[in-house]
Order: sequence, then C-alpha cells, then structure tokens
Amino acid sequence: MTKKILVTGGAGFLGSHLCERLLDAGHEVLCADNYYTGNKSNILHLMENPRFELMRHDVTFPLYVEVDEIYNLACPASPIHYQHDPVQTTKTSVHGAINMLGLAKRVGAKILQASTSEVYGDPSIHPQVESYWGNVNPIGIRSCYDEGKRCAETLFFDYHRQHQLRIKVMRIFNTYGPRMHPDDGRVVSNFIVQALKGEPITIYGDGSQTRSFCYVDDLVEGMIRLMATGDEVTGPINIGNPNEFTIMELAKAVIAETGTESKIIQLDLPSDDPKQRKPDISLAESVLGWAPTVELEAGLQHTVAYFRSLLNA
Ligand code: NAD
Ligand code: UDP
Ligand code: UDP
Repeated sequence: MTKKILVTGGAGFLGSHLCERLLDAGHEVLCADNYYTGNKSNILHLMENPRFELMRHDVTFPLYVEVDEIYNLACPASPIHYQHDPVQTTKTSVHGAINMLGLAKRVGAKILQASTSEVYGDPSIHPQVESYWGNVNPIGIRSCYDEGKRCAETLFFDYHRQHQLRIKVMRIFNTYGPRMHPDDGRVVSNFIVQALKGEPITIYGDGSQTRSFCYVDDLVEGMIRLMATGDEVTGPINIGNPNEFTIMELAKAVIAETGTESKIIQLDLPSDDPKQRKPDISLAESVLGWAPTVELEAGLQHTVAYFRSLLNA
C-alpha cells in the first residue's frame, strides 16, 4: 500500500538514500531539511519524481503536514558539524523530537528516531547491547549530540507511554558510503579524500581505537525493516556492522583501495573520543531478520568511486 512518508534530514547522507528506497517502493515522500549539513545535490536526481516533495524546514519549528509515517533523521551527525553550533545541535534533537512527536500524535503516524551508538558514550561493556545505559560525559564537547540524542529517546518513550504513540528507536552505529559530506571530518570520508588528494592520512591518537563500519545500503534496509515491524516493537535496537577495525587498520584498507602514495601521520586524539565501539546485533537479527551483507572492502570500493568522481567533477 502506498504511504505518505515524511523524512526529516532527507537531504543528508542517510536521508537521501532512504528517500530513494522509499520512492522505489512506490511511496510518496516528503523530505524536510534546512540544509544545515545536507545538500540539494544529494536529492537532485529525485526531483523529477512526482511522488517526491522537498521542503526547506527547520525541525525546531512546528510542522503541520498529513503523513502516515515519519523518519526523524534531522540532526548534524559528524563531530565537526555538531560541535560547530552545539546549542543548535541540542535544540535540533530535543525540540525537533518534540515537534515530530507532536505531529505523529496529531495524525496518528508511526515514528522512527535515528538515534545513535553515541548514547553509549565511551562504553565500559563491549560489544554494546541495547540494555547498557552508557557512559556519557554530560558536560563535554560531544555532549550536545550525545545528551540531545539521549533526551530524544526519553521523549520517544514518554510519548509512547503517555500518548500511546507507535515508536521505533534505532541506534545507528558508524555508517559510511556515497554522499557522505567530503568535509565533515568523519574518519571514512577524511581518509578517502586525503588518500585521493595525496595528502597525509590523519590518525588521531595511536590509531588503536576501534569502530565498526556499516555500509549505507545495509543500514537503510535495517531502518525500513524496523519501521515495518508491529506496534509491539519499539526498540531501542542497534543497527550496525559488528566487524570491528582499529582506525590504523581502516587507514591501511583505504591506502590499499586507493593505491595512494599518502603517508600516515598522527595527530592529537580529541577529548572524550570513545576507545572502542561495536554493536551487538542479536536483537536486530532475531526481531528484524536483519544482518549486514556488505564487507568493508566492497563498501570502500563504492565509496572511493563516489569520492573520485566528486573530486574530479
Ligand atoms: P547528515 O549531516 O548528512 O544529515 C543530517 C541532515 O539533517 C542534513 O541534511 C541536515 O541539513 C539536516 N538537518 C540538520 N539540522 C536540521 C534541522 N534543525 N532541521 C531540519 N533539518 C536539519 O548526517 P547523516 O549521517 O545522514 O545522519 C542522519 C541521522 O542519522 C542523524 O540524526 C544522525 O545523528 C544519525 N546517525 C548517523 C550515523 C552515521 O554514521 N552516519 C550514526 C549514528 C546516527
Ligand atoms: N506540533 C507540530 N505539528 C503538529 C502537531 C504538533 O509541529 O501537527 C508541535 C507543536 O508545536 C508542539 C509539539 O509538536 O509544540 C508537541 O505537541 P503536543 O501536542 O505533544 O504538545 P502541546 O501542543 O500540547 O504542547
Ligand atoms: N579519526 C581519525 N582521523 C580522522 C578522523 C577521525 O583518526 O581524520 C578517528 C576519531 O578520533 C575516532 C574515529 O576515527 O576515534 C571515528 O571518528 P568519526 O568522527 O568518524 O566518528 P565517531 O568518533 O563519532 O565514531
């Protein structure tokens, strides 16, 4: 059945892939974005589709539209972007959640929140399971993002308990792929752009910290499956790839994939940088029948090809 679906943050990296998938499935998609970190070029190819509509809108302000489902992705996601205007970051997560939940309540829509592995902070248990409450600094430079997302989760669960909203909370782990912002400072985009330009590859700290990288297509599949679950499934549910790499291993994989002459250099580790991160995805496997399918090497190939053409354009 064709649905009317609102995607906030739809002009961003993940949002643009999600809009594309939803249109392919025959739905009507309303994309709301204020272009803070997203870009029209990410969705230009969808503009000709009569089922696609784009509106410039900041989710910290109320929005009155009629929709069946809401995917709430609006929020700067990379440390450089979310630390640029930290107050606005918290407002986007918190006021944005209130407005989208208010909208969902008025129209009776199902609503999914793009939460994050950052709610676990610098985790003291490994891999991270959904029942872990996290280890987050409330006053540090990452707090605007981490605590904003934690508060958004609180709001989702309170609207669920208090107003019986149908909610889906998804904790997204590091995701990469085409249409990542080339200057957002995230490790995969940084390393690839540096490698393609022949510039030094900047490892922060000694490169022993770990992350687990999920390819965007896998992530979007998990997101759509979560939205399709029955009302008893609220999450939170981890979606990510459990294959864990040190940042040094990632640098070497990017060097191998690009064939660059770039050398690795080491810079200071930013404060509050989590030392390790890896999702436990047993819940996603059992509830959604979902597991990632794209290995790092294949995912890097697609991503390098994207950045190569972007830099040559
Ligand atoms: P992105 O920066 O590419 O996309 C975010 C989008 O939200 C952008 O298009 C931006 O313009 C828009 N936006 C920001 N503030 C807004 C506001 N106030 N009103 C309307 N639009 C606004 O980042 P992304 O990687 O695509 O992330 C999408 C979502 O997924 C975010 O909520 C992020 O926190 C979450 N997430 C992403 C990752 C990841 O690895 N990519 C990991 C965990 C969580
Ligand atoms: N809201 C919105 N669109 C709607 C309905 C509500 O943006 O279609 C906003 C509204 O501005 C309010 C917020 O959502 O600030 C929370 O709505 P709710 O009904 O929960 O609270 P109330 O309006 O009673 O404060
Ligand atoms: N990182 C790095 N070099 C870079 C960018 C990031 O070594 O040029 C490190 C960063 O310190 C962190 C990891 O890579 O340990 C992932 O960083 P990213 O900003 O991509 O994501 P997050 O820290 O939010 O997981």
